[in-house]
Amino acid sequence: MHQIFLRDNLIMPMAYNQLLDATIQHLEDLKSRGVRNAAVSKETLRVLAQPMVAEKFPISNFQSKIQAVAPTTKIETTISTPAKQSSPEKIAAFAELQKRALTCVKCPHLASSRKNVVFGVGNIDAQLMFVGEAPGADEDAQGEPFVGAAGQLLTKIIQATGLSRSDVYIANILKCRPDTPGQSAGNRKPTPEEMATCIPYLHEQIDLIQPKVIVALGATAVEGLLGKTIGITKLRGNWQTYRGTPLMPTFHPSYLLRNQAMSEKRKVWEDMLAVMEKLGMLVSEKQRNFFLKG
Ligand code: URA
Repeated sequence: MHQIFLRDNLIMPMAYNQLLDATIQHLEDLKSRGVRNAAVSKETLRVLAQPMVAEKFPISNFQSKIQAVAPTTKIETTISTPAKQSSPEKIAAFAELQKRALTCVKCPHLASSRKNVVFGVGNIDAQLMFVGEAPGADEDAQGEPFVGAAGQLLTKIIQATGLSRSDVYIANILKCRPDTPGQSAGNRKPTPEEMATCIPYLHEQIDLIQPKVIVALGATAVEGLLGKTIGITKLRGNWQTYRGTPLMPTFHPSYLLRNQAMSEKRKVWEDMLAVMEKLGMLVSEKQRNFFLKG
């Protein structure tokens, strides 16, 4: 019935606080105009009643984060498009989607073995989105994607572009850790059935975020998003399209941990340079030369 608008100067860190503050403001405005009753949807009430769910996705200002790159990184980067700000409707839709994923039991074997559903992390208004395969043990324990060894490398790759994890959005094809019955350690690739069951959550995440560019990390991410099973070695570095959005396939960071050759790091970096250019980011001479020998 009534639309809720955010105040211009609202810079609260948490999406939940942002939504709550906007709602209070709106209700106060209505009250000052003599309105005594307001229609509120069940969905909005449900989201407002669940701060812990909504707090999982902080809103950050893409533009200012990029301009405030830590001095130690000495990277000059900017992006040409202005920062977007989430509408309360988008925040609510994301919270609702997250709640559905967090309570999902469509794969009973994974629901019973998981410690956490690893929904995704980052800026829900991100222009750049990274998609990986599935949570590992560290991600399962912490409920956040890419926090283990491969995740730390991904964080460094993101930082090398001048961005931070909170500027981008990071998610996986599978939201639960693939179980490994009888094994105390190790990971396995998701099965086609698990991927088909879980992928609608990722589709919805992408539909809401509407990133300008998606980076698919490794063969499983490419398979899940594009249905292509061509080897990642052939596909990487070649722009693809996911429902109209440019998608750059590149090696998974865990591959770079196994193969430490400079040439492989350079390949991933060249893919990231192409991504930066696609996003209209400035690339410094220093950045252009990362991982070149001599
Ligand atoms: N590998 C992935 O593909 N995703 C994670 O979240 C962690 C490791």
